[in-house]
Amino acid sequence: MGSGNGRRVIVIGGGIVGTCVALCLQREGFDVVIIERDAPGEACSFGNAGGLGGGSSVAPLALPGIVRAAPRLLFDADEPLFIRWRDSPAMIPWFIRFARESALARVERNAAARASILGAVQDAYAPLIEAAGAQDLVVHGGALTVFESRDALKNAGYALELGRRYGVAMEEVDGDKAREINPALGSRVACGIVYPDSAGTINPLRLTQTLIEHFKQEGGTVRKETVLGFEFANGSPTHVITNAGTESFELAVIAAGVWSKDLAAKLGTRVLMEAQRGYHAMLPEPGISVPVRTSLADRNVIITPMEHGLRITGIAEFSHPEAPPNYVHAERIIRQARQFLPDLNADGASMWVGPRPQTPDTLPVIGPSPHHRNVLFAFGHGQNGLQLAAITGKLVSELASGHATSIDIGPFRPDRF
Ligand SMILES: Cc1cc2nc3c(=O)[nH]c(=O)nc-3n(C[C@H](O)[C@H](O)[C@H](O)COP(=O)(O)OP(=O)(O)OC[C@H]3O[C@@H](n4cnc5c(N)ncnc54)[C@H](O)[C@@H]3O)c2cc1C
Repeated sequence: MGSGNGRRVIVIGGGIVGTCVALCLQREGFDVVIIERDAPGEACSFGNAGGLGGGSSVAPLALPGIVRAAPRLLFDADEPLFIRWRDSPAMIPWFIRFARESALARVERNAAARASILGAVQDAYAPLIEAAGAQDLVVHGGALTVFESRDALKNAGYALELGRRYGVAMEEVDGDKAREINPALGSRVACGIVYPDSAGTINPLRLTQTLIEHFKQEGGTVRKETVLGFEFANGSPTHVITNAGTESFELAVIAAGVWSKDLAAKLGTRVLMEAQRGYHAMLPEPGISVPVRTSLADRNVIITPMEHGLRITGIAEFSHPEAPPNYVHAERIIRQARQFLPDLNADGASMWVGPRPQTPDTLPVIGPSPHHRNVLFAFGHGQNGLQLAAITGKLVSELASGHATSIDIGPFRPDRF
């Protein structure tokens, strides 16, 4: 038994982050219960683009010039950014902080922190995937990002240079080479970047489910309940209150994606995190073969070959997480994908929306609750939660065991807002 010594931990949330946190704690010898209100993996972790590290993610979202570009990004229908205006007043502090994070010094600092955690993604996942026998769900075929013009590639120069600086392998290719790598691409592609080390999953839901099955086989418990709040004794949280009763804990981890913000508030901590909703269209018979995950840089659309069809993902819609979906966005990304993949067949497409738990500095929230040392926070992974889940689990288990963390978690501390 590891340093967990059979101590009981409650993990709130059974998305990919909560699942990996639970597995890492279990591997360290803790007795772990996941409390998940729905089925594991069916919220944001259900419908993502499957990117599992080694790609283009070092640059944060708030880059120099983003504030000046905001009106164009918001009002040009070809751009991926949308705000559900009726939900926007509550988001003003988030946007103010986001604007501040676009100052060059902060971008450099945020990129360094992102690089530190992104660099650990694949090593952290490997033991979890191997132990769960989930190797068939992971592909190591690299990824391709394509651009419509040399100017577009030039405009992405700073973001690319951040990746290069932190050792992300990438190779520039011309349009013909891009079409050789992905023969479904049409003439619109002028050039591209190949990420040879990029990995991905062919089914994010099944990945979470497979990890959950392994967790249960190893003695873990998953309870289908909703956490409503906490019970306190002498000012410290001692129990979670769920729709089914109360449950005592020595240690609890909040890993409830975008909904973690409300749970953190019940413990007296304000975090700046909003739902940046993304959409997907799942095409069961796309009529083309896409051998490698392909991003359309000019549209912020990602096309991923999944085991059950072709998935097109995109859009950044700031809204209440429970707002009704606006599937016009999913239709838009199908249209945009077709501009690059002329023979794409979208018949029978199913559509989905999911809330990325986004912080304004594009850094996750990982660390002890500022007010209560027996609660750890593990959320806010934005557009990278699939890839960051395992390393987050590793860091949480190091904290829970009282070990030094393998990465400096200072930039991710929960009291930074
Ligand atoms: C279109 C799109 C594409 C993406 N592509 C990628 C990609 O390629 N690579 C990548 O790394 N990331 C990607 N992401 C981001 C990634 O999907 C998310 O960051 C990740 O799924 C977040 O996981 P999570 O476990 O924190 O949250 P979730 O998956 O949302 O899980 C949170 C869980 O907590 C539960 N919960 C909430 N409140 C309570 C409560 N009170 N009690 C009990 N349970 C509760 C919910 O039911 C839910 O199951 C993408 C996202 C989108 C939308």
